[in-house]
Amino acid sequence: MKDQAGQQQQIHFVRPLLPRLEDVADQLQDVLASGMVTKGKYLADFEKRIAHHLQVEHVVAVSSCTAGLMLLLSTLPPESEVILPSFTFCASAHPVVWNRLMPVFVDCDPHSFNVDPKRAEEAITEKTSAILATHIFGNPCDIDTLQTIAREHNVKVFFDAAHAFGAFYRDQPVACFGDASVYSASPTKLLTSGEGGAVATNDLQIAEHVEIGREYGNPGDYDCIFPGINARLPELSAILGIECLKLLPQSIQRRCEIAESYQELLGGIPGIRIQQISPQGESSYKDFAIVIDKEKFGRSRDELSADLAAQGIPTRNYFDPPIHAQRAYANYCPTRHALPVTEELARDIICLPIHCRLEDAAVEHVAATITAS
Ligand SMILES: *Cc1c(COP(=O)(O)O)cnc(C)c1O
Repeated sequence: MKDQAGQQQQIHFVRPLLPRLEDVADQLQDVLASGMVTKGKYLADFEKRIAHHLQVEHVVAVSSCTAGLMLLLSTLPPESEVILPSFTFCASAHPVVWNRLMPVFVDCDPHSFNVDPKRAEEAITEKTSAILATHIFGNPCDIDTLQTIAREHNVKVFFDAAHAFGAFYRDQPVACFGDASVYSASPTKLLTSGEGGAVATNDLQIAEHVEIGREYGNPGDYDCIFPGINARLPELSAILGIECLKLLPQSIQRRCEIAESYQELLGGIPGIRIQQISPQGESSYKDFAIVIDKEKFGRSRDELSADLAAQGIPTRNYFDPPIHAQRAYANYCPTRHALPVTEELARDIICLPIHCRLEDAAVEHVAATITAS
């Protein structure tokens, strides 16, 4: 794409929205001068602000969403089964395995791309301890149905909310639902602290477990109550996170505008299916995903992504391969349940550039490249 001066403009797939140096300089100076580089007041402030933003009682900030999930899942009974989608990022499943729990992959819905609650319910056995559902690309899951199923079968509902800063369900942040949610603050997500994450919950016991767990399992007297890890979020990251939280509304607004443009420009094209947002939900649009039907569209997903790449447009095939098809899981856990929707999505999905610095001209260029045959 060329700008007004005829210069070639690079289109990025994703770019974090970051504060200016002058917005963080005083706080950084404060940390450097005090020598309090971890476990200080900025961590406490970050947690307080995130809890307020997510409208939950407890937030424990952690060094990554992966670490947060590891600690959260360590509350489950040993060797129990956790039901989760295979169509999600690998870091949804790794924490299950690290806790020596059994991942049970179930299929997802072809329209929302989220875990299909019917499939989740069918997979429940007497060994099941939890359903771990991801709000895929920031699209809220069918939370009401998942909660009803979980209540009936007496299992926990946890959410991998890595994509979900800015995602709402029935006008509340998605963190208000389920037993706990884990957010990511890595740079490709909506709010970043460099690296980082947050466990959000209204359950005091879970919050205390995660808080002690991120400190090696040490409750304060060096008499560890379980083998934890070091999952602390440093002060410098907390400072970045606090400032990025202020920028979040701007980021979400721009993503929603871009998503609307894509919907208008691509909605009617035969062979293109756009992720359907939950009727009670508002997506954060962490990603904008379309699914290509090769027969109707005339090109396969891979042919389209090659055409886009040739025009300088980067895309990603999230999530291909899905987790159950990855080498790490080949021998670990045989899939008990057929996953035809997951396999179709993985083969045909393509995520388009979306971030708050992407300009209208770039969005139009992406859409025009897709529709040109
Ligand atoms: C990014 C991501 C994670 C891992 O987040 P980190 O903060 O990088 O550990 C987990 N789950 C999903 C769905 C993700 O996209």
